[in-house]
Amino acid sequence: MQNSRQTGVSFAHVCKIYAKGQKPAVDDFTFEVRPGEFLVLVGPSGCGKSTTLRMVAGLELPTSGRIEIGGRDVTNLPPKDRDIAMVFQNYALYPHMTVRENMSFALRLRHVPKGEIARRVDAAAETLGLGAYLDRLPKALSGGQRQRVAVGRAIVREPAVFLFDEPLSNLDAKMRVEMRAEIVRLHHRLGATMIYVTHDQTEAMTMGDRIVVMEGGRIQQAAPPLEVYDRPANKFVASFIGTPPMNLLPPGVLDLSRTAGVRPEHISLFSADGAPDGALSATVDIVEPLGAETLVHAILDGRQTHVVARAPGDSRLRHGDHIALVPDPTKTVFFE
Ligand code: ADP
Repeated sequence: MQNSRQTGVSFAHVCKIYAKGQKPAVDDFTFEVRPGEFLVLVGPSGCGKSTTLRMVAGLELPTSGRIEIGGRDVTNLPPKDRDIAMVFQNYALYPHMTVRENMSFALRLRHVPKGEIARRVDAAAETLGLGAYLDRLPKALSGGQRQRVAVGRAIVREPAVFLFDEPLSNLDAKMRVEMRAEIVRLHHRLGATMIYVTHDQTEAMTMGDRIVVMEGGRIQQAAPPLEVYDRPANKFVASFIGTPPMNLLPPGVLDLSRTAGVRPEHISLFSADGAPDGALSATVDIVEPLGAETLVHAILDGRQTHVVARAPGDSRLRHGDHIALVPDPTKTVFFE
């Protein structure tokens, strides 16, 4: 248990420009990660999330701005002086070392006493279900087990802050879901501050206490997952978070001057002849039966606007059917 060492991370106007004349990879990033929080940085490839994380780790230095860990200015400190541990996508285990040697390596470098090393490695192995594998070489492990060893290497260091850079993207879909749950449990157990980078919005939504959505090096929204889902701050967030994404209805459909955003589950479907007043008439384009539900893709009549609605699993709609759509006004958001 490391609750006593809960530590926040603060960013003040952090910018990173890799090369003169290039636009910033990270642009005026200002944010407070709370002590003990699981914070996810999410956004499309190239939006600056790894650079942000690497600046916390000390693997990149900001061009300007300030980073504090536990109230201590670390902006220009080398990685070893920051009290962090980082888990990467390519777990980079030493191939000629056993699991135990891999996990204890950083502690041996620091001349931590042998008994203390053994205690920490055994505890981490227990937490991660690696007890039976401590004498194996990495090549005799599955991908998921190797990733656990990489996480174990971080745990034994008992850092103030854990940093994860897309740690699950090399794993197959099933293992990814399992490891996701395991990292969340680990967070509950250790109570340590964790910053986790992913391009996968589902991962962000399911893991984060809060998520920071980035695009073009800038924070687009920072909030708990459901708030980001229900009240996206702008059109970018609306279309990035959620599968399928929020429908964006252009000005003129629901509002004269603003774009209206409405999630597929907040649109009711009617047959064309049973449509209530004010419904949007549309023609069914594609029907995707998914078992428990059906995704109905329709085109608004007289427009090119494509709308997706969730219908029950037993929906009988077909391509070409004329329907009417009613967005729930209490769930509709508007964007300038
Ligand atoms: P993400 O992690 O969101 O995919 P990155 O932080 O890796 O994004 O990259 C942000 C931007 O900075 C991208 O445009 C990328 O090409 C650029 N970039 C990243 N690392 C370097 C580097 N070492 N040198 C120059 N440009 C870089």
